[in-house]
Amino acid sequence: MKEKPSRSLQAFSGEIVRWQASHGRNSLPWQNTRDPYRVWLSEIMLQQTQVATVLDYYARFLQRFPTVKELAAASEDEVLGLWSGLGYYSRARNLHKCAQDVMALHGGRFPGTAEQLQTLPGIGRSTAAAIASFCFGERVAILDGNVKRVLTRVLGFSADLAQSANERALWAQAVALLPDQDLPDTMPRYTQGLMDLGATICAGRQPQCLLCPVQKLCRGFAEGNPCTYPVKTRKLKRTAQALSLLWARKPDGSVWLEKRSSKGIWGGLYCLPVFESDDALTADLPPSLRERLDPLPAFVHVLTHKDLHLSPWIAGFRAEQSMPKAVVSPERPGAWFGPAEWSALGLPAPIRKLLEQDA
Ligand code: SF4
Repeated sequence: MKEKPSRSLQAFSGEIVRWQASHGRNSLPWQNTRDPYRVWLSEIMLQQTQVATVLDYYARFLQRFPTVKELAAASEDEVLGLWSGLGYYSRARNLHKCAQDVMALHGGRFPGTAEQLQTLPGIGRSTAAAIASFCFGERVAILDGNVKRVLTRVLGFSADLAQSANERALWAQAVALLPDQDLPDTMPRYTQGLMDLGATICAGRQPQCLLCPVQKLCRGFAEGNPCTYPVKTRKLKRTAQALSLLWARKPDGSVWLEKRSSKGIWGGLYCLPVFESDDALTADLPPSLRERLDPLPAFVHVLTHKDLHLSPWIAGFRAEQSMPKAVVSPERPGAWFGPAEWSALGLPAPIRKLLEQDA
């Protein structure tokens, strides 16, 4: 049985649908299509990333991989290389795995329901719902960060979302608010409308309530302080990690890069050799190279939950000189890459920035 919204909120979905048609975003390159491949690609890229940043990456990916078949057949290195700069690289690894699963398990077609879509790598409940509502008009609710903000404010939902029971209760309310008529047309527009409202009007710090299509229905607005929603008490604990980097460089500008294992920080990316400390770095080099090591200014790279204190050391190698055995092992395979080669690899953002200073 379908859940019903409270009487006062029965107009909610209709207002969102109408507003989206006249004021929402309707000409983004991944809109006006019901092709699950394109919608999925955009949804994964848009997680944690602004629309303006995604536009170029989306175009490049589609040009290189026009269908899920080409993406599945690519090497992981190529996918990570094209993803380079978008961050959160587990998304790219899952994207590649998901394409391979769609080919191997579903005959090259994305499954047609949110429930089945969720069985694929990297597709969570909200992303599955977005794909299923956009492509198949399924009556399923999305609940990403922006939508949580809109709905908790509209509903005056003050329970702590750090507790999973409360989050489940919000999902249930999100389902109750869904349109229940003319789903092939209203579901895509409603889903897009909630996304648009969260991204453009119902902002975190300064919601523009005077422009909002659901202001009359919004409990947070009526109470006078919508920014008290959503409530989430658990604070992520930040950690710090110090890493030393060996920037080995030859006269022709080539650099030594190793491919990191798929687990841990910068998994699967190419990187300057990483050491736990400056002492560990110098201990692995023969005396003749140690003498030619120069420290560069250390810097901090901020990740979502962690501050990385990076300490790069530059070492000039002769043209014919090879990397000492202590740095190369089957666990950390590496190679020399010329300037035209390394720029196309998937590199962590701070490493790319460092190398580009010299390019
Ligand atoms: Fe958000 Fe204000 Fe609209 Fe409520 S009225 S949904 S707080 S923008």
